[in-house]
Parts: sequence; structure tokens; C-alpha cells
Amino acid sequence: MLQGKNAIITGSTSGIGLGIARQLAKAGINVGINSFTDSKEDHKLADDLAQEFGVKAIYFSADMSKPEACVSLVEQATEKLGPISILVNNAGIQFVAPVDEFPPQKWDAIMAINLSSVFHTTRTAVPGMKALGWGRIINISSAHGLTASPYKSAYVAAKHGVVGFTKSVALELAEQNITCNAVCPGYVMTPLVEAQIPEQMKTHNMDRETVIREVMLARQPTREFATTEQIGDIVAFLCSEAAAQITGTPLSVDGGWTAL
Ligand code: NAD
Repeated sequence: MLQGKNAIITGSTSGIGLGIARQLAKAGINVGINSFTDSKEDHKLADDLAQEFGVKAIYFSADMSKPEACVSLVEQATEKLGPISILVNNAGIQFVAPVDEFPPQKWDAIMAINLSSVFHTTRTAVPGMKALGWGRIINISSAHGLTASPYKSAYVAAKHGVVGFTKSVALELAEQNITCNAVCPGYVMTPLVEAQIPEQMKTHNMDRETVIREVMLARQPTREFATTEQIGDIVAFLCSEAAAQITGTPLSVDGGWTAL
């Protein structure tokens, strides 16, 4: 049922975005992958996906901090892949500082990439989905879209904003066969997280397993990371017919964090 559909996944040359692109391609969906670096490796990632899964996969360079680039990403992907019926808003950045020391330009960047880009890609993609009479919009929020941590004011505000935006858009499109949901991961094992482990081991003088359990996953009751493959499979599920009546929902994938 998903075979041959066309998807855009923003911020998808690494981590969760790449995991989502892989699982959608595995389901036979043509994928537009994105970052703003436009490197040889970025284009190769797309070629590798096309070869491994036998789908169309194209890399699009677009800086999600810029409204016009968000619009152009959807337009270019529509031109090169065909009508876009699946939009996954995944691009996101983090910055940590006390609120009275938080650099305003970091606040603006987090708002632009983590929240406003979701609006700009969605407003551009929705007319095409309406014309098709079918669509799936999936926004990668966070456990921080439902709960807070200190020193992450911009990230928490933006991710809560994504959940609110998701609900509003879901209601607007409810009768048009277009669903809009948010996925709210807790800690996910990505290359970025993996890279932090050696330093944390040194800082806390702990072995790998202890630093993961006691420091990194202190707030995640299962004491296990989610994997990028699991997040990708959940996104593929939200695209499926089984999920047609799931809309406006923040779906937690956080090992019990928000149940605490
Ligand atoms: P990551 O840094 O590995 O990937 C982020 C991706 O976004 C990269 O492909 C990067 O190139 C892209 N990106 C960054 N700025 C961009 C810009 N201006 N324009 C276009 N692309 C840009 O991060 P990740 O951990 O895979 O996170 C992906 C999403 O998942 C983010 O929205 C993040 O907030 C969310 N998330 C992550 C975790 C986690 O534990 N890793 C948990 C909850 C939510």
C-alpha cells in the first residue's frame, strides 16, 4: 500500500532522519533526503538507499533555518520525485544554557529549525496532499515536547510548539484523509550520542554500561536507548492504513520517561 509513494524527510543524512529514510525506503517508498551541506557523501547516501532498496532516492540541499529553502525543498522534491504524500519533519538542533545566559541567536536558530521549518514545509506540502486525497505528516518532536528539563528552554519551547502545531493541523485536515502526528522520542542511540560516551566515562570514572544506565539514561525507566530503526518503523507504521485513525497524537517512544 505504501509502495511507490513519495516522501520527504528533513535533516536525514544522519541519526534519526536517516533511520526514518531507511525504513521508509525499505517499505518501497521513494525518499527525498535532506541536509544543508551538499557534500559528495550526502549524494552518495541517496544513491546507496536507491541501490539497497530499489526505490528512487534523491538528496536535496536546503537550510531548514530559512523559510524560502523549506518551500523550495518541497517544490524541488515534487518536481524530481513526483507528488509528495508523506512529509517527515525531523531536522533539529539543540543548545543548552541557563535562560539568563541563553544567546538570542541560538534561541532564534532553534525556533527556526525545530519549529518554523515544520510550518513552512507543511504549508507548502498540504495543497499537494489535498489534491491526492491522501497524506501523512509526521513531526519528530521529543519527550521534551511533553515535559521539560532545565537549561533547554528554547528546545523545550520549540518541541512543545511542534506538538501544538501537530494537533491544530490534524484537526484542519481530519476530513481529508491526511493525518498529522508527532513522534516524541526519549534518548535515541545516534552517532552523536555514541560519540559522547567515552567523554562521559572519563568525567564520571565509570565503565560504558554504568555511564549509560546511571548518567545518560537516568530519566529513561527502561534504561535502554531507542534505536533509529525503531523510530523509522514507527514512522512507517504511522504511514500505514492501520494508522488511518491516528491523528493529532504525540506518540511517546521514551522507555517510560513521560509516565514518571
Ligand atoms: P542529528 O544531529 O544526528 O541529525 C540532525 C539532522 O538535521 C542532520 O541530518 C543535520 O544535517 C540536519 N540539520 C541540522 N540543521 C539543519 C538545517 N539548518 N537544515 C537542514 N538540515 C539540518 O540529530 P538526531 O539526534 O538524529 O535528531 C533528529 C531529530 O530528532 C531532531 O529534531 C531532534 O530534536 C529529535 N530528537 C532526537 C533525540 C535523540 O536522542 N537523538 C531525542 C528526541 C528527539
